[in-house]
Amino acid sequence: MSEPSVFTRILNGEIPAEIVAQTDRAFVIRDIAPQAPVHLLVIPKTADYRDVVELAAGDPGLLAEIVELAGAVAAEHADGDFRLVFNTGADAGQTVFHVHAHVLAGGLTEGTTHG
Ligand code: AMP
Repeated sequence: MSEPSVFTRILNGEIPAEIVAQTDRAFVIRDIAPQAPVHLLVIPKTADYRDVVELAAGDPGLLAEIVELAGAVAAEHADGDFRLVFNTGADAGQTVFHVHAHVLAGGLTEGTTHG
């Protein structure tokens, strides 16, 4: 068994964090190092999936719940528009191998190279 992830430890109350929203199967926290005016993490409660590719293969319904919850918190915490980022693999910047979606929102159009 590997060590519990930081997100499992937050869910279990072992590391302090405000859970800003949750459903039966997922929860949302603020990223501790925000990269946008609104930066939330939407996280399945299960630690069974390391990344979004595993999640899509193993439980596509849960992936759909993650996307739905991302939309709900983006509407609650910003104007409803958001970027959804799943870093997948260490070379892509993934540091926590308990799948999670970054919801980036709030004034993102300035300086973007994609817009
Ligand atoms: P990733 O690099 O895609 O695996 O994302 C992991 C994210 O978790 C990073 O953006 C971190 O800032 C964030 N993070 C790590 N520890 C905590 C924590 N205790 N509370 C909130 N966010 C955290």
